[in-house]
Amino acid sequence: MSEVRLRFAPSPTGYLHVGGARTALFNWLLARKKGGKFILRIEDTDVARSTQESVDAILEGMTWLGLDWDEGPFYQSDNFPLYREYVEKMLTAGTAYKCYCSPAELEKKRELAISEAAFDDLIKGRISFQNEELDDLIIQRTDGTPTYNFTVVVDDASMRITTVIRGDDHVNNTPRQILLYEALGCPVPKFAHVPMILGEDKSRLSKRHGATSVMAYRDMGFLPEAMVNYLVRLGWSYGDEEIFTLEDLITKFSIESVGRSAGVFNPDKLLWLNAHYIKTGDPKRLAELLKPFLQERGVDWTVGPDLVAVVRTLLDRSRTMLEMADGTIFYYASDFDYEEKSLAKFLTPAARELCAELVERLKQSEDLGHDSIAALFDGLCADKGVKMKDVAQPARYALTGGSASPGIYDVIGVLGRDETIRRIRRALAA
Ligand code: GLU
Repeated sequence: MSEVRLRFAPSPTGYLHVGGARTALFNWLLARKKGGKFILRIEDTDVARSTQESVDAILEGMTWLGLDWDEGPFYQSDNFPLYREYVEKMLTAGTAYKCYCSPAELEKKRELAISEAAFDDLIKGRISFQNEELDDLIIQRTDGTPTYNFTVVVDDASMRITTVIRGDDHVNNTPRQILLYEALGCPVPKFAHVPMILGEDKSRLSKRHGATSVMAYRDMGFLPEAMVNYLVRLGWSYGDEEIFTLEDLITKFSIESVGRSAGVFNPDKLLWLNAHYIKTGDPKRLAELLKPFLQERGVDWTVGPDLVAVVRTLLDRSRTMLEMADGTIFYYASDFDYEEKSLAKFLTPAARELCAELVERLKQSEDLGHDSIAALFDGLCADKGVKMKDVAQPARYALTGGSASPGIYDVIGVLGRDETIRRIRRALAA
């Protein structure tokens, strides 16, 4: 059996859009599943609209998602001699004509035309077009530049692409392209046209619905594995399963089980998946990913508690890396303000007494592991005849400056004895 060869062929006229990323993902998955090749081709023949910045953004997005390519990136702008060669071939074969030919000549050439162009789309089923519906396709302009449908076919043919997976905005191009393959005597690849992505109001996904650039999601604190998982489920399903890693997908994905209807982009579901991947993520890796977000906030994590230990306390509480970064701030900021109003609310005279006692007991405790801290709090509550929240709330306020934080034992464990005591004393003195 010949090798399966797929490609992603973005036009570098903007960032990597979530729709493009999903197309790339489907191609990548099929190539990996079949042990074939995934080729990246940059369609930059529209010189006026193509930019290097956009090429870089596309490559960055693919790399971030983990979609590595086996060949390329190839640039259409390097292929002009090849396109000219194919134009010559077609002119010689009589399958193309120079359009200054006479009406009689044109009529004669049209008689040679095939009456129908049809194909079995791997997602949409059979699609056919009558040739009368198609105009005479220009393959090369007067200035010598090749046109879009022609360059795609020359490239897909010369790159021996076996399956073309692309957005269904290209369905109308496919019959024209099939006619070109036939005219060139090249094998016609299989086609799979992926339904578009809609916003929640069922109109085509656009900036009105929120970010559409894949990298904007990274900047908003999404993990690539959440993005991949989300994108693949936009159109593809596998029973009731929701969680898929790239490795799972390589075995489970099939293009035939991509649905025919458009996927609706649901930010809440993406957030849910992201929270899942943060919760189950490797704290060491997450700590690395967190650093740029901390830098943005001016948090210096090199002085103070171990960042990985901090991250561990935030896994259950962060839906995004942005939320995690916000949750990290108090660990490294020892000089936050205790506002008068909240001071009075949390540090009542009774609470102050309990905090002072907590300091005494912390000084004496030998071990500050989770269980020892729990035992210390239990002992304090029992001895003073108070409830856990009577101690935990003022302590949390003193340690974090707020009323919501990871579990108080975890916070104390991460801050360590000296810093814990220092913060409680500072609050008591405020
Ligand atoms: N360059 C085209 C686009 O970005 C894709 C062409 C194709 O996949 O055949 O829409």
